Amino acid sequence: MAKIAFIGLGNMGGGMAANLAKAGHDVVAFDLAEAALERAKANGCTIADSAEAAVEGVDAVVTMLPAGKHVAGVYRDSVLGKAPKSAILMDCSTIDVATAKQVADEAAFAGYAMVDAPVSGGIAAAEGGTLTFMVGGSDEGFVKAQPYLEKMGKAVIHAGDAGAGQAAKIVNNMLLGATMAATCEAFVLAQKLGLNPQTFYDISSKASGQSWSMTSYCPVPGVGPETPADRGYEGGFAAALMLKDLKLAMEAAQAAGAYTPMGGEAEELYQRFVDRGGANKDFSALIQMIDDSWTPPA
Ligand code: NAD
Repeated sequence: MAKIAFIGLGNMGGGMAANLAKAGHDVVAFDLAEAALERAKANGCTIADSAEAAVEGVDAVVTMLPAGKHVAGVYRDSVLGKAPKSAILMDCSTIDVATAKQVADEAAFAGYAMVDAPVSGGIAAAEGGTLTFMVGGSDEGFVKAQPYLEKMGKAVIHAGDAGAGQAAKIVNNMLLGATMAATCEAFVLAQKLGLNPQTFYDISSKASGQSWSMTSYCPVPGVGPETPADRGYEGGFAAALMLKDLKLAMEAAQAAGAYTPMGGEAEELYQRFVDRGGANKDFSALIQMIDDSWTPPA
């Protein structure tokens, strides 16, 4: 079994590190937060005093950090030149494409194989080991990373070269943000036009307006399969994280010279929702802001 350094044991990383330990790996964990370290210890990980100490003599490094600046800082200060050159480096955080490419370049220059491997799936999927990984990097890097990622997920897909995993993740979430916003406004309009939400769902989910946001994650309580809407919009995928991903997508679109008006509109809507206090609500709760007079059907 391999020795793996795991840096960043928050909501997502905590469950992922536990699954690597459960698979029999020797997981050496580091986080800045004491509570995260305690949880990792309880889940079978060994605790390190620093990121540098965690990467000593390992076969693999996994990072699950908040944003690009944390990822660049940890790799530059504590991983590159400190971990063995044979170690495969896997950053599973969701970060901007430019930083992902830059850190991968620096890793390659220092003699390491590195992949960006952001995930689809939330805290429950991280705990259950059912994440989907979108992987950017060389064929060699992908082959080395795959066996580790498979212990934390249900699907591991090679998206392309360095940065391609992040690109796939943020473009997918831009599409999700835009379809959720459109689905929310469709239900509000349908109700204002006198349609029963269940009836509208029955029709549209079998017609051309169908999307994952409607049929698998319906923002209306009591309609469609059970979703966060049925739990007061608690749990699920926080609106603040959707906003983060939309901002990353808009940044990437600007850098690439792509015209993304729907993504821009979704970003603006989620910004307004977060500003009004919706940050920790599930992202489908946007329906409550689309029309303040809208109330879920009894
Ligand atoms: P989190 O804030 O719960 O965890 C991040 C952890 O990183 C924290 O425990 C923090 O103490 C630690 N950290 C920060 N800087 C550090 C450093 N320099 N050294 C060591 N530890 C450090 O965040 P999360 O919800 O676990 O998300 C992690 C990443 O996964 C983010 O990029 C997020 O966008 C992405 N993501 C989250 C979800 C979700 O549902 N939460 C879903 C998909 C992707």
